[in-house]
Amino acid sequence: VKECSCHELLGAMGVYIDGEAASDVCAQIEAHLEACPDCRLEVETLRKTIRIVRGAPKPSLSNEARERLFRALHLDDFIQGL
Ligand SMILES: [Zn+2]
Repeated sequence: VKECSCHELLGAMGVYIDGEAASDVCAQIEAHLEACPDCRLEVETLRKTIRIVRGAPKPSLSNEARERLFRALHLDDFIQGL
């Protein structure tokens, strides 16, 4: 797996997880995920984090706080996965 393809993928990941990626982009991402455990972990982590953030009982978080939480959780999980 080439590094550049991981890097490109990470840029499209958020859109992909939201289900808003074009179908050819989805196919590309899914093909890459088949071959790349690192990116699979990344997608799982992002999905988990998005569920946590969206499923939070109090939707009183500002967008900024939400984003911070998202980034913090993502980072923590990512480091644990290394
Ligand atoms: Zn990858």
